Amino acid sequence: MQRNEILEWLRTPAPQELFTAAATVRDRIFGRNVFQRGVIEFATHCRKNCLYCGLRQANTGLARFSLDTEAILAAARTAVEAGMGTVVLQSGEVPHPGTAMVGGLIRRLKDMADISVTLSLGDHDEDTYRYWRDCGADRYLLKMETFDAALHARLRPGQSVQGRLRRLRTLCAIGYETGSGIITGLPGMTPAMLADDLLRLHELPLDMLAVGPFIPHPDTPLRDAPTGAVDEALRTTAILRLMHPRANIPATSALDALAADGREQGLHAGANVIMPSVTPEAVRAGYSIYPGKNASHASVRQTINRLQIRLREAGYTPSPERGEAPAGPDC
Ligand code: SAM
Ligand code: SF4
Repeated sequence: MQRNEILEWLRTPAPQELFTAAATVRDRIFGRNVFQRGVIEFATHCRKNCLYCGLRQANTGLARFSLDTEAILAAARTAVEAGMGTVVLQSGEVPHPGTAMVGGLIRRLKDMADISVTLSLGDHDEDTYRYWRDCGADRYLLKMETFDAALHARLRPGQSVQGRLRRLRTLCAIGYETGSGIITGLPGMTPAMLADDLLRLHELPLDMLAVGPFIPHPDTPLRDAPTGAVDEALRTTAILRLMHPRANIPATSALDALAADGREQGLHAGANVIMPSVTPEAVRAGYSIYPGKNASHASVRQTINRLQIRLREAGYTPSPERGEAPAGPDC
């Protein structure tokens, strides 16, 4: 897709045409099966200071938690019992002491059930990524957030687009199914920048692509910035589907935080994956990336049951499959 075409889709007064085209492409590749990834948000400690994120190190008001291996395995069992073929281990970014613990955990998860294990643990060195892959991890999610060099550097102090890109290429070369994506509506992001971000994503060897709207967190420097528009995130999801017919694309949790039927809207715009939290009730509200995250007061099982009912009512089938990307790209 050309840049001007992307901009037209981002601005069209009739986005339904875009959503229908994207859903048709999704139906052709995946049908109405929706892959389910149970996300275990196991630790909130972070060494970074991304301006948008409630887990940033400088947020000293946050009561941090870190789950032990048994609690993480119990959460994974909940995901498996609810019919999910993938678990995602996600956390803030912690340096080396966590490496061996995560490696042991991956091995236990792979012994426990026939599931894919996805990691979303941020920036690490090549040896660490290799070690976790050798332990059995299948996939890695590392979002670019934005490719705009100045905006990236401003919102992710001390980090660079080039560093993140280098890591994505390393992850792919090591043999992970690799995922990335962006946050739409970041303060300072223009439609032209968003179009360029989509073109840059298209150049990368990605199996998974995610886009979620920015949601301001009250305990971050971006507390007064406007919330990203659901409509823009949906258009971006649909454009991604048209550009990447075979990729796994989630209806992101951030959509659900902003709209009661956010995940259904994401699926109607061409997504084929959901990523519900299976983090234990006792701590999950503390995984405070943005307001509205893990807001349900029901049990994890009840929350998942309700979500699965919602999907069926919207015309989709929650799939128990692992949901590999149909054809991995060359690195
Ligand atoms: N620490 C790892 C990392 O940064 O890659 C993984 C966990 S991080 C909390 C997961 C994702 O949360 C980030 O990639 C970012 O896109 C998203 N995120 C964080 N704060 C957000 C916000 N305020 N609004 C929307 N998305 C946000
Ligand atoms: Fe840490 Fe990830 Fe949040 Fe950045 S986005 S502060 S690396 S948890």
